[in-house]
Amino acid sequence: MRAEPQSFDRVLSSMCTEPHPVAREAAVRFLATNPGDPGTYPQVSELEREAVSRLGDVAGLAEASGYVASGGTEANLQAVRIARERADDHRPNVVMPESGHFSFRKAATVLEVDLRVVPTDDDHRADLEAVRQAADEETALVVGVAGSTEYGRVDPIPELGEVARAVDALFHVDAAWGGFVLPFTDYEWNFAHASVDTLTIDPHKMGQAAVPAGGLLVQDETLLDELAVDTPYLETTSQATLTGTRSGAGVASTVAALEELWPGGYAAQYERSQANAEWLAGELEALGYDVVEPTLPLVAADVSTPTFEALREAGWRISRTGSGELRVVCTPHVTRAMLEAFLADVAELTPQ
Ligand code: PLP
Repeated sequence: MRAEPQSFDRVLSSMCTEPHPVAREAAVRFLATNPGDPGTYPQVSELEREAVSRLGDVAGLAEASGYVASGGTEANLQAVRIARERADDHRPNVVMPESGHFSFRKAATVLEVDLRVVPTDDDHRADLEAVRQAADEETALVVGVAGSTEYGRVDPIPELGEVARAVDALFHVDAAWGGFVLPFTDYEWNFAHASVDTLTIDPHKMGQAAVPAGGLLVQDETLLDELAVDTPYLETTSQATLTGTRSGAGVASTVAALEELWPGGYAAQYERSQANAEWLAGELEALGYDVVEPTLPLVAADVSTPTFEALREAGWRISRTGSGELRVVCTPHVTRAMLEAFLADVAELTPQ
């Protein structure tokens, strides 16, 4: 096989990044292990417990339970599944702001729950009043986003937790992307700040682990019982994951990245990424573009379709929000030099 993987040189649209060298090395070492079969692969199983405990440190959960999922989609789907299993006979609903990731749409279809999508406010955060109005006694889950995919926004997490409690629903926070930058901000986003039941935090995004490494954390271990199925042919008696066989690469890579980077390395990376985002936003504004203020390291700017297409043509891997703005995600591989080169191309395409 001669094909080479994509280089990260011009990738500005991905929520994922180049794995840290120690994370890459650990992934390769544990590639052929299967944490789905702990009786046969005890070492990687032990590592998974360590991964969960370390993810708990990041998300403010002292006695963490959960597992390393294939990504944010699986973690979000499993959170919906826990909530649905807890609902009585009725067909439950899930209340989510429109900034919620499309993985919840998949979850709603697969699990046959009604998804009530409520508007966001002028700053792209969940509109609390709209969430309050949508939630009722048939609501099994309220979703809050801590670091939205399109604008990097953080919903009012403690208040959303209260709305969930008021209707006796579970509360899930999707910090798949934001989880490794939010600890270095003043945002209230995790178990320590609010009554959160389940939380998604993905090592394979800002956590600099190798794909596939998502994280599902639960506040109370018994919530995982809602997912458990019997596993007759394995040495262990039950399994809570959605996938059966899964590579230990993500598990090992998560532990290696956290061992290396939590908290100092991630803090330094957050500072660099945020400074890059603010610099890019300022430069784009100076060129005359409308820019959505980057409250986390993600810049959205109103760039015309011909300019966007010319930039793609020039090799830049960029994408757009649902309303058509250009998005640049300042992940760890996105350096100031890359952004300077990108900006030079934008400037050339900007009418004087
Ligand atoms: N949640 C958020 C906020 C995301 O940004 C993403 C992906 O970008 C996901 C969930 C889904 O994660 P994955 O693609 O790893 O399944």
